[in-house]
Formats: sequence, structure tokens, C-alpha cells
Amino acid sequence: MTERIREFLRSRNDEGPCLVVDLNVVKTNYHAFAKALPDTKVFYAVKANPAPEVLSLLAGLGSSFDTASVQEIEMVLAAGASADRISFGNTIKKERDIARAFALGVRLFAVDCKPEVEKVARAAPGSKVFCRILSDCVGAEWPLSRKFGCEPSMAADVLEHAHTLGLEAHGISFHVGSQQRNPHAWDRALASAAAVFRECGDRGINLAMVNLGGGFPTKYLKSVPTVKTYGSSIFRALRRHFGNRIPETIIEPGRGMVGNAGLIEAEVVLVSKKSETDDVRWVYLDIGKFGGLAETMDESIRYPIRTPRDGDATAPCVLAGPTCDSADVLYEKQPYELPVSLSIGDKVLIEGTGAYTATYSAVAFNGFPPLKTYHI
Ligand SMILES: *Cc1c(COP(=O)(O)O)cnc(C)c1O
Repeated sequence: MTERIREFLRSRNDEGPCLVVDLNVVKTNYHAFAKALPDTKVFYAVKANPAPEVLSLLAGLGSSFDTASVQEIEMVLAAGASADRISFGNTIKKERDIARAFALGVRLFAVDCKPEVEKVARAAPGSKVFCRILSDCVGAEWPLSRKFGCEPSMAADVLEHAHTLGLEAHGISFHVGSQQRNPHAWDRALASAAAVFRECGDRGINLAMVNLGGGFPTKYLKSVPTVKTYGSSIFRALRRHFGNRIPETIIEPGRGMVGNAGLIEAEVVLVSKKSETDDVRWVYLDIGKFGGLAETMDESIRYPIRTPRDGDATAPCVLAGPTCDSADVLYEKQPYELPVSLSIGDKVLIEGTGAYTATYSAVAFNGFPPLKTYHI
């Protein structure tokens, strides 16, 4: 927790769980990415935290933006970034949304199949497209499914189709899985990307760009390598697969840009047992899966939690949220160690919650309001 967040929470006088994001940390993260990969453009993945304060800060620092909807595009424009700094990176778009993005000035689109290429060719003629390829996501704590991307062997056909329809076949993208703890995970995907570059080259289409995606981690309970380590590992992989013809590159950090900048303050509502002899306590917080902690799904992301009783003896407990949905349990398969002295009414601090929290919180499930947010 930063001193600024501590100070903010000390003087806070409203009620209920809240997320506080320190914008100075976001700024430091942006500079770390820019320095770790100096020849790579940063496209912040807006979905991780689309707060206007975050978007304006990054727009001011010179960042570009990866967006997934017309609404996100409008938010980025409102934050002061021009349309030439926006990529419409969702591979699943309505044709009328592509047309709207085009009218707003966006000229860079993601595709992963021929039908999507045809939509872009009709609604955004002459634009640049990049083809997303599948990646296995080994090493990622929040792996991505096969929902986005095509097999690398299909990518050249998709890009050739784009070329034939008058689009600019610009390059390849992939995502190595979110919270990717292995800095070498980009190597295999870059090998595939280089193969598509060669195949397209043989067909007379010269690709220019590789979109290295997101995946850069935030520190939760386990430590993670530095951004610098990721940068040098990615650069070595680029050299290995592209030799001295390294393409233009972009990265799309989401979690790594904002995760460690945020902290959620929550409260213990109840500590109980299911029987007199039960040796595992149930600890219920006033925030759960529907209040912003959706990434505890399958217990994938394990947040560090600090309590006013830290230092006292600890024991494992089941940690759950406050709603009347039985799925609203955060950690049960792998119980969470918390102080035995933890009591009803204690405030807890959930760290590393700047990404993928506030916008995941329900509108008012069970009457609980959406997560309050403060960007300071
Ligand atoms: C979500 C997303 C990202 C950000 O991923 P992180 O793992 O949070 O860095 C980047 N690119 C695309 C296309 C995404 O959908």
C-alpha cells in the first residue's frame, strides 16, 4: 500500500467496500513498460480499468489504447487520445460497430477469420488488420480459452483474404495468457508469428507488425519477475525468430499497468463455524465474487489480504462474500490463512486489485451497490 492510499483511507468517511487506485503507481508502471521495451508501442488494454482518470493519465503520457467496443473507443477519445492511437482489438465485432469505429477515425482492427475480415473490408475500407493466432497460455494463472485467435496455419489465408479485399494486412497478434509468470512464454508464439510472416512474404504480402498482447503480471501472493526481465526475454525471442528484420511491435498491458496500483478496503461481516467441532472457520467479507472479486473464479487469482491482526497466530479459513448466492465463495478448495483473532467489524485490505475488479462488480445484485472507486 502506498502512503497516499493510506492517507486517503485514514480520512475516508463513507461506508462499504471501496477500491482506491494510486495514479502515481500507474504512471511508474507506464514508464517501466516504455523503458523495458523501448522500441515497442504501448496500447493499454482499457478493459482492465477504464476509469476516466486512468485513461486521461495514460493519454497524457503518450500511451495508445486497445479497445473492445465502441463504448471503450468513445471513452478513450473523451480522455484526449486521438483515434490513430486506438486499436479495435476484439475479434468479435458487429459490422455496425466497426462502421461506427471507422467513422470515429479508428483504422486498426483485429481479426481471426475470413468472415470478420469481410465485415472490416465492408465497414472500414482500406484499414489495417492484424490476425490473432492461438497461443497455449502455459504458465498463465488466468489462461485464455480458444475463444480468440486461429491456428497459425490459417493466419496467412486470413491475411491474404484481407489483402485481396483492399485492406492492409498489417501483422499478427497473440496473447500468452493473463498473469503470465513465465517471461519466456512469448518465445513459442513469436516462432509461430515469424512463420506466418514468411508464408505471407512468399505470397507477396509483407507484414509489418507483431502485437505481443498482454500477460504481464501483477504481484499477488507469489513474487513475479520484473518488467525489465520480460522486456529482455521478449527482445531475445524477437531476435531469435526474426533475425535482424525485427518488425514493428506493440504490447497491450492491462493487469501489469494497473493491478498493483489499487487496493480494496473491505470489512469482516461474520466469522462462524458450521459445527462445534469444525476446525475451519468461515470468514465472510462485505465484498465477494459479485462485488468485484470475480477473478477468484476457480480460485485462480489469490489476492494478498492484510488485516489489523497481522502478526497474531493464523489458521486456514474459508473466505466468502456477502451475497445469497452459494457461488459467492472466494477461497475454499485451498483455504486462506488468516489470523485466528480476526473479528467481526475488522477492516481488511485486499492488495493488487487495480485491474479487473470495479467493472466486474454487479450493478446491484442482492441490493449491494457496485464497488465504489477512488482514483487519487
Ligand atoms: C485483456 C486483453 C489484454 C490485457 O491482458 P492482461 O493480461 O491484463 O495484460 C491485452 N490484449 C487483449 C486483446 C486483451 O483482450
